[in-house]
Parts: sequence; C-alpha cells; structure tokens
Amino acid sequence: MIKIKRRSTVMKEGDKVIDNDIRFRKLIENSFSGITLLDHDLNIIYRNPSAERITGWHITDRVKNTIDDLTHPDDRDQLNQVLQQVLDQPGLTKTSTYRTIHPGGRYIWLECRFTNMFDEYDVNAIVCNFIDITEKKQAEERLIESERFISTITDNVPALIAYWTADLHCLFANNPHLEWFNKQPHEMKNITKQELLGDKEFKLHQKHIDAVLRGEPQSFERNFYKSDGTTIYTQTQYLPDKDGDTVKGFYSFISDITNIKLAEQEINKQTEQITDLLENITDGFIALDENMCYIYANKAVGKMIGMEPASLIGKNVWEVFPDAVGSNTYNAIQTAFTEKRYICNEDYYEPLKLWQENRAYPSGDGVSLFVRDITQKKHKEQEIEQLNERFSLISKATNDALFEWNFEKQEIWWSESYFTLFGFDPELPIPPLDEWLARLQPESRPLIDTTLKDIYEKGLNDWQVEVSYYRTDGTKGTLLNRGFVIRDEQNKPVRMLGSYQDITHQKNEQQQKALLNQAINESLKERNNILESIGDVFFALDKNWIVTYWNNVAEKVLRRSRSDVINKDFRKIYEYALNYLPLTKYHEAIETNKAVHFEHYSEVLATWFEISAYPNSEGLSVYMKDVTDRKNAETTAKLALDEKISILESIGDAFFAIDKNWTVTYWNNTAEKVLQVPKANILNHNLWDVFSTSVGSLSYKKYHRALKTNKAVHFEDHYPVLNKWYEISAYPSNNGLSVYFKDITERKISENRLTELNKALEKHAKELAVSNAELEQFAYVASHDLQEPLRMVTGFLTQIERKYGETLDAKGKQYIHFAVDGAKRMRQIILDLLEFSRIGRTDEHSEEVDLNKVVNEIIILYRKQIDEKKAKITFSNLPLLNTHKTPVRQVFQNLISNGLKYQKPGNAPLIEIEYAELPRHYHFSVHDNGIGIDAEYFDTIFIIFQRLHNKEEYSGTGMGLAVTKKIVESLGGKIWLESEQGKGSTFHFTILKK
Ligand code: ADP
Repeated sequence: MIKIKRRSTVMKEGDKVIDNDIRFRKLIENSFSGITLLDHDLNIIYRNPSAERITGWHITDRVKNTIDDLTHPDDRDQLNQVLQQVLDQPGLTKTSTYRTIHPGGRYIWLECRFTNMFDEYDVNAIVCNFIDITEKKQAEERLIESERFISTITDNVPALIAYWTADLHCLFANNPHLEWFNKQPHEMKNITKQELLGDKEFKLHQKHIDAVLRGEPQSFERNFYKSDGTTIYTQTQYLPDKDGDTVKGFYSFISDITNIKLAEQEINKQTEQITDLLENITDGFIALDENMCYIYANKAVGKMIGMEPASLIGKNVWEVFPDAVGSNTYNAIQTAFTEKRYICNEDYYEPLKLWQENRAYPSGDGVSLFVRDITQKKHKEQEIEQLNERFSLISKATNDALFEWNFEKQEIWWSESYFTLFGFDPELPIPPLDEWLARLQPESRPLIDTTLKDIYEKGLNDWQVEVSYYRTDGTKGTLLNRGFVIRDEQNKPVRMLGSYQDITHQKNEQQQKALLNQAINESLKERNNILESIGDVFFALDKNWIVTYWNNVAEKVLRRSRSDVINKDFRKIYEYALNYLPLTKYHEAIETNKAVHFEHYSEVLATWFEISAYPNSEGLSVYMKDVTDRKNAETTAKLALDEKISILESIGDAFFAIDKNWTVTYWNNTAEKVLQVPKANILNHNLWDVFSTSVGSLSYKKYHRALKTNKAVHFEDHYPVLNKWYEISAYPSNNGLSVYFKDITERKISENRLTELNKALEKHAKELAVSNAELEQFAYVASHDLQEPLRMVTGFLTQIERKYGETLDAKGKQYIHFAVDGAKRMRQIILDLLEFSRIGRTDEHSEEVDLNKVVNEIIILYRKQIDEKKAKITFSNLPLLNTHKTPVRQVFQNLISNGLKYQKPGNAPLIEIEYAELPRHYHFSVHDNGIGIDAEYFDTIFIIFQRLHNKEEYSGTGMGLAVTKKIVESLGGKIWLESEQGKGSTFHFTILKK
C-alpha cells in the first residue's frame, strides 16, 4: 500500500494529532465509497479497500492500466476534459459520471468527484471519491425502455390513449392522441385536462372525470363537427387507476366510432323504409325471432286479428294463438325455420273465421311471414263448389239423362241417369262419343247430323227430336232429345246443354192410343174405360171444336170438371188467351192432318206440358203430359251454367283461355283490368299478335312447355310493358290452355327490397368480420412480441437479486420484488390476451367430449386448493357433446376457479354444476356460495381487464370471464349470471346443438 504523506505541523502537535491521523486513515479505509489518490500523471498513489471492491481490480492488475484504458470509449472524451480541468486548477472539484470496465469484462457506472489537492502539502494528489451507480443507471434505462415499450404498443392502436393523474395532469399520451390535439410530446407532458380541452369541452367532461376519480369506470360518446360538414363520432372510456381505495389517476381511451355510427344510421334508415313499406301493404307481415316471439307485426296483421300490433311484440306466437299449434301454418313456420327455406301454405283459422294464404321465409335468426286474407276468395270458391254440388244433385234427382257438350274441348259431361238409360255400368269409365253414336238406330243418325248442322249453319238454338236407339242389352227404345245451345259473343256455339228422356213408353202409348181411337168408334163404353185409365190428360174435340171427351186426369190437372167443358166450344173455354199456343198448334194439326207435338207452359197452372194432338176423322185427340219436373231441371242446369260463367267473370283472379293455335277463346273481366286489354281487342285473336313483346319471354316458354308436356305449370313472371309481376298458373286441356294469373307486383317489390337490405346487412357484417380479424391479428402479434422485452426485464431483475442480494437493503429488495411481480403479472396478462385473441380460431376437430370427465379433470387440477379450502364440487349426468374440447374445458375451468377464488376467507366453497337440455341448446349453470356480485357489474365483469377487486384481495388479471364469454359466443351460446352481493353467484351459459 502507498503511504500517505502526513503534514509535519500535525506531527508536531503530538499524540492527539496522531490519533486524528489514525482515525482519518481508518475512516478513509472503511469508507463505503471508493477513494483513490492520483499523481500529476494520473497514476494511482493510494486506493482504499472500497475502491478495489467497487472496480473489482486488484492493485497489481490495476496499475498495469491507465484510467483511459479502463474507461468506456464513449465516455473517454468527457472524462479527459474533466480531468484536464481538475489538473489545471488547484482546489477545483468536478464530478463526472462514466463507465469503467470491470475485470469480468462488463462495464459499471461510476459517479466520481475529482478534487485537485496538489496545493495541500499533506495530500498532494487528485482525490477521486466515487460510488457505483450502475443499478441506478439501469433502472433509468429500464424506465426509458418501458416508456418506449408502452408507446410502441399504444402508438399503433387506432385509439387515443392518455394517462391523467388525480390532479388532472397528463403523464402520457400516445401518438394518435398527440396528433388529434396537434401537440408535441413535451407540450402534452403535464398539461392539465382543462388546458387541453378548453373550458367549454371540459365542463361537458366534468361529471365523467368526477366519477372516474371516485373509482367508477366511464364510457360516453361525443360528436365533433368538421368544417366540411361531416361528423366524427367518438367513444371515450375512462378507467380508474386504483391503488387500494385511492384513485391515483385514470386512463382515457378515445376511439373513432364514426364508421360504426354511420353503418348504424344506414341500417336504421333502411329499416325505417322497410317498416314504412310493410305498414302500407295490404298483406299482413310478421317477423319472429328464434324463440318464435314477435319482433314486428304490421298494421294489416293488427286489423286481421283485431289486436294492436304493438301489444304482440315480445310475445310467443304460439302463446297468442295456442289453438294454431299443429296447424298447417304452424308446420309451415317450423319448416321455414328449421329447414331455412321459403314455404307457402293456405290455412283456415276458425277462431277468427279467417282464410289465409301464408308465405314464410327464414330471416335473420327467425322467420318472417306474409299473411294474405283470402277469406273472400275462399267463400267464392265454396259458392262455386256448392253450385256444382247442387247441379249434380239435381242431375241425380231427375230420371232424364242430362248432358253438357263442350264443343271447344270436345268434352261431354253426362248425369248418372245417362248410364242407366243406355244400360251402361255407371262404375265403368265413360264410353267415348263414338260408342254413344253407335247406339243410335241407323234411321236416327241423319236426324242428329241435321240438328248439328242446323246449330252451326242456321243458328238453331233449341231443338227437340225423337231418336231410336239400342240399349246395351240389345232392346230398342225411343228417346226424346231436347237441348239448347250457348253461343259466345261472336255467336259461335260453345256449348250445348240438353236432356234425353226415355219416351219408349209414351211411344207405345201413342200406338195404343191410335188403336184406341178405332176402338172408340166401335165401343164408346170401352173407350171410356180405357181412356179413363190413362195417367195423362186426354181430351177429344170434334170438327167444330166442341169438347166431346175430357178424362178424369184432365179434370184434375186442368182443373175443369167435365160438366164445365163437355159439349162446349174449346175455343170459348180458352178464349182469354187469343194467341194461345195450343190452339194454333191444333189448327195446324187439323189443317195439315198431321200430328203435332209441342211443349207449353201454363202460367195459370204453373205447369209445363208436353202436348201431342192427333187429327182423326172425328176431330182431334189431345194428350198432355205434365213435364214440369224435367223442365225445371233443365232451367236449373242452364241457370247454374250462367252462374258459373258469371263467377268466372267476377273472380278476382285474371283468367283466359287459348286454343291450340294460340287463339284467345276466353278473357274475363279481371284479365281486361290486369293486362289492360279489352275483350274486344283480344277474343279470337292470336295471343302473340296482341302480346308481341312477350314472344320469347318466360311466360311464352312456360305456356309452350305446358302445351307440349300436357302438364300444368306455375311460375312468376315480370311484364316489362306494364312493369308488373304476375303469379301465373297454366293448365293444359285437349283444346288448349287455361291460364290464371294474379298481380303480385307489390309482394315482389317488398321481396326485392328485403333481399337488397339483406345484401347490405351481409356486406356490413363482412366488413365487421374483417376488422375483427385484423384486431385479433394485431392482439396476437402484439402479445407475441411483447413477451420478449418482458422476459428481459424479469431476467435482469432476477440476476440483480441473485448477484447483489446481500448488498441491497430491505427497500431495494422490495422494489425488485414489486418489479418482478409486476412483470409476472404483465406476462400473465399478455398470455391471457394471446389466448383471448386465439379463441374461435381453433384448428382442433370436434370430437365426442364427456363433460363429466372434463369436470373431473378440472377437480384434479385444483385438488390442492380444494383440499385446503375444504371445497365441495357437485355435478351429475353432464352430457356428451360433439365439440372442441379445449375451449369447452376452459369455460368450465374459468367458472369453477372463480367459484373457488371469490370466497370470504374461511368459507368452505360449495360449487354446484347443473345441466338442462333445451330444444336448440344445452344449458349449464355453475352456482357458488361466494361473495356474490352487485347487479351493477353484471356487464362489466365480462369486459377484458375489468376486475372488481385489486390483486391483494383476490389475484387475477380480469381476463377469465372475457375469455369465457368469447368462447361461449363462438360456440353459438350466451352467458349471463344471477347474483347478489354476499349471497353467491350462478353463472349460466348455453351451447348450440349441432
Ligand atoms: P379475474 O378472476 O382474473 O379477476 P375474471 O374475468 O374471471 O377475472 O373475473 C372478473 C371479475 O368478476 C373478478 O375480478 C371478480 O371481481 C368478479 N367475479 C368473477 N367470478 C366471480 C364469482 N364467482 N363470485 C364473485 N365475483 C366474481
């Protein structure tokens, strides 16, 4: 060791001074800071033990190096300058901070005071007094590092982030924040909130600032109006920075939500338009959610069911209409919902006496339903049905065979009597026309031909002919064929209605009567007997019109007694009717000497007669038969037909018919209106001449197809000339096509609007999905990259603790402990964030997962905690799910571990897991007897990093429930809770069935 020169004066002062000297040396030698004395050439002349301890150099090695050699190249200039000044100026003290190399190869930081003491005889050296400040320097660097670290994260976040102290000074603001307020970092540091916002804006924020400083997180929106007229929407969140109960400051996050707002406004606007539309259509419209509850019902629905539409909202449709469960409509709605497809049905709802035509569409999560009131249309249909029924009843009731011959379709309809009349078996198929004609006796054929010819060529409208025929059993008979023709506007015969009456009997009677007449001549008495026994009216006139005979049927039917008429002039009896038809006919018979047959209606008797008058040598014999029944049947048939036609004319649907050459043969009133072509312009015209623009259209193709395949077609088509949509059904027949169509333009417009809206919504959803994916990606990358610097921080801190553990005082150790603890928590947060960002991107395949096993695994995982706390976890018969195991396990693990954790100290946790199967979901609940949660926080706890406790009370990062919620939602479910502070909590969640 180099000996310190002592002042000679001190020597002279004796023992006391020597004592001082020794004490002084002891002091120096024991000083905690390093002390070195240097000569003019900066060589070491003395070092105390601390100097060796701090620099690490043993003196023998130290003297081999100059100061310059040992100093960090970056610090040499600065140190040399200081040393030069000190060397030059006796008495001068200067401080320098520099790095010097440690024999181990690393640099340590020294803070050194150099004092020129060459003037002091006893010292005659430069005194260097230094301490090691490496640790302080490193801490400073860490601080800078961590600030840089925070800015790196926050500067790239698309939000304004700042930290405000409790006295409202800014400690930190990220780049977007600086840019928004147009400030430099140094201008922002320590600026007050009021200075930054200005008085007016500050006042608006005041209540939120006060609240966050009371420890309540805040979230509110603000609009800013730019000079170009656009609006920027922002959302601000204030999160308190709490230390125990005191709020040290708060974080402010401001994000631009303009895009979201605009999208929201756009959706609102479109929704309004649709609602407007839906309110104005005559069809009812109902929207149901996935639980079959009303989300919407329009005015028309209200009218149909006699209820305020608003009163339906939120109610389950089958609770409102319990008696419709199981109906057609119920099935249609269920099908649209479960099979996600459009379905149409017709139904009758008795309680409302409502016939309805429904169109159900899947929409959103639920179903939309258009309801059309078709009660009136249905009643019309029923009327027609009734009419037809009545018509067929009448045709059954009469013995005459009735027929309807449609010339156009070449179709004949026969009443049942026809079969019995000809001897055909009514059970067998109707025989063809040819077979019927073949049944006529050859002499009757020409009669039929002439009649037909007359109908076409001479305009014959009603006729009556007698024809002879063979029955199927070979016997002969006579038929009286009567009929009338129905013509269209062009006077073309369209249909023929008529009847066949078997008059074989009468014929025979006529012959008998002829015989009788002879007999009368021979035996009047006999004649009387016979004539009296006839069931029909019979009377006889002589050549002077005097009544010579009047049988008792005549007395009854004609209501005149024999004494009133016998020997009276027939013309006088009936003189009240001058142009009395029978009289004219009798004249004719007498004049031509030929029998006459005719029909006559007597108004007085309200009876139809079939009359035959036979001239003979004495005068005239007249037979009258009451045919009122048959006549009535004929009239009814004609009426029914007229009615049918008038119904075709009056139905609300448009209807037209064309023949095989596309000539229009029928065109009803509605067709005139809907297609805007009057009958006169189209009847008997070629359809495609009139609708030349539609050649090649969908309708054109469909009609051709129907004709070609002989199968009905149903389709919807647009007619550009009128800009209208039609629902069309075309039915082929032998003659051509019958076409029904309905104007569905309104429905189409609303359908199109709906599709457009759906498209717009889909687009928004896609955009949202993309931005979500980007955010997830960002969180993923950020949390990955963040781990590295953090590992460095923890690593170095642990090193310090290990190396300098003994030299650190209790405070120092505590600081290191805090720092390591903080870093650990940050690592946990980053890991949680990483996991959060990964949810929903699992590559795992679904597998059969036994939840009983899963819960048992979790119990094993928490075995230690469960034993320590004497906890009990109960569950039974949890289901097997086909799902991703890891996320599902995570959900149960998070809820169970929270149940174990959030407990009053000393309380034995009791956790009950329950399960129920719902129609579309599995429903689970995890109940605990812990500290419970105030209803006010039911939403907050699911937000990331939101905690209700500090880490001293209950450890955690505030990620667990956020992760849980995200997983549950990615599994198609929902999570919610029931809880009361101090009374335990129940977390419910659902998982969508696959
Ligand atoms: P962490 O447990 O990491 O703090 P979580 O997201 O799991 O994060 O929970 C958020 C907050 O919700 C917790 O800080 C706690 O205050 C509250 N919490 C969660 N589960 C329960 C529970 N079972 N009983 C009482 N409080 C709970």
